[in-house]
Amino acid sequence: MTNTWADVDSYVVDTLVGTEGSPALAANAEAGLPAIDVSPPQGKLLNLLARTAGARRVLEIGTLGGYSTEWLARAVGDGGLVVTLEFEPRHAKVARENLDRAGVGARVDIRVGAALDTLPGVAEDATEPFDLVFIDADKVNNSNYVQWALRLTRPGSVIIVDNVVRGGAVVDEQSDDPNVRASRELIELLAAEPSLDATVVQTVGAKGWDGFAYAIVNGPAS
Ligand code: SAM
Repeated sequence: MTNTWADVDSYVVDTLVGTEGSPALAANAEAGLPAIDVSPPQGKLLNLLARTAGARRVLEIGTLGGYSTEWLARAVGDGGLVVTLEFEPRHAKVARENLDRAGVGARVDIRVGAALDTLPGVAEDATEPFDLVFIDADKVNNSNYVQWALRLTRPGSVIIVDNVVRGGAVVDEQSDDPNVRASRELIELLAAEPSLDATVVQTVGAKGWDGFAYAIVNGPAS
């Protein structure tokens, strides 16, 4: 089945998404980065969601080689900003090269370090709230990242968390996989947090079976 899913992704890329962003994927492979970027159809979805939200300021946690960053940077347009947080200096260097080559480097601020260490600086420097937060780093910290996202956004902002379905393992309440446990903790947080309204959407494709959480920050109760 996974081959069919990959074939459909290829068809969608060929007919609809185009090859935008693929130089970054080739450069990532050349530099030996793991192929754990979002797929091209998912990258395009991020771009569309950011544009739907009218996002001009985006926070991304987990840059890798900047593939998803590029889609988001295209969405914010001229004068927009993507702040993206990456633990590995080597990944950040490749991302910087990719984003500059793509012509969107001036819109992207890459901060290197463990996100929980760099987020306080992001908060200090933020002159305005972020319109969209995309969380795609170490999954065990997803709930911490959502708590940070809540501090850095405004009513109406969007928070997206990738890879929360984990091939269906998310339903296994006995799982001792830390990533599965973190997904369950995250989804429980999204359910319990009154300032968020959220869903989880399952996805299949070249990256297998997974899914993302999509949340909107609620305005004050009326
Ligand atoms: N969003 C990227 C894309 O789709 O092109 C893929 C990101 S990849 C799944 C996860 C990235 O998060 C890796 O580059 C990894 O080094 C980084 N990472 C892992 N732990 C981190 C942490 N504590 N703080 C910041 N980045 C981290």
